[in-house]
Amino acid sequence: MTILMKAPAKINLTLDVLYKRTDGYHEVEMVMTTIDLADRLELRPRDDGKIVIETSASYVPADEHNLAYKAAKLIQERFQVTRGVTIAIDKRIPVAAGLGGGSSDAAATIKGLNQLWDLGLSTEEMAVLGAEVGSDVPFCIYGGTALAKGRGEQIIPLPGPPPFWIVLAKPPIGVSTAHVYQHLDLGQVSERPKTEQMIQALKRREFSLIVKSMGNVLETVTLKSYPEVQHLKQKLAQFGADGVLMSGSGPTVFGLTQKESRAQRIYNGLKGFCQDVYMVRSAGT
Ligand code: ATP
Repeated sequence: MTILMKAPAKINLTLDVLYKRTDGYHEVEMVMTTIDLADRLELRPRDDGKIVIETSASYVPADEHNLAYKAAKLIQERFQVTRGVTIAIDKRIPVAAGLGGGSSDAAATIKGLNQLWDLGLSTEEMAVLGAEVGSDVPFCIYGGTALAKGRGEQIIPLPGPPPFWIVLAKPPIGVSTAHVYQHLDLGQVSERPKTEQMIQALKRREFSLIVKSMGNVLETVTLKSYPEVQHLKQKLAQFGADGVLMSGSGPTVFGLTQKESRAQRIYNGLKGFCQDVYMVRSAGT
């Protein structure tokens, strides 16, 4: 039996950092939503007990550093599974982009192995396992739209937004999440994301209020280090996006609009400035 899984990317509608914890992690509050841009995973059973990663992207590790490998290894050990698996990842989400691609591959692996190895795990149990692989994995187990708290692993599902289009632009740089958090100075943050207002906007399905509530404190670090990220944000707004924000620790920025024709215009405009541009629908319902 071969299992096929879709591993969708996410964007942050909000990302707030409350404080640095004594364990070194940052206490965060983030509203995240799934988008219609996804890696494809094929999980094929193996009799030799090995976990083998095959990936279409040369710059993604195909060894024990791959988050899908880590997820499979964790499950194998935790449940004393003697069977193996080949995980073929067709990478479509840009890497190290702030779109949670690796975390989503790990989540899809956990969900897929739950079927392939007949583990009978609930969503909550899979999310707890996922948290051991990475802070964003539990959100990817749930998918949809949710508030993430703690170090990102506590998930409170939220109603999905009204449908909109997203134009994503990724400048040709990779940004390390760890580096951004290390350089975050909360004293420098003048405007915080309106998390509570965002939750209300989602409950009321009010696109204009969603746009007004967006915010990401990590922009203070990434925009300062990489002026091209700020430049792309300006271009997105200039071409007509209603709300513009950086996702995660960046460097991907995105613009929202409810009109397909306008999204197309923004996409075409951005293409003149940036090679990596995507136009996708929201999928976090
Ligand atoms: P986050 O916002 O959670 O930090 P991201 O979208 O910025 O994630 P990823 O695409 O998940 O970044 O990749 C971050 C790093 O993880 C990359 O440098 C890559 O080498 C490594 N990695 C491990 N497994 C994967 C995977 N399955 N897909 C992509 N990158 C992976």
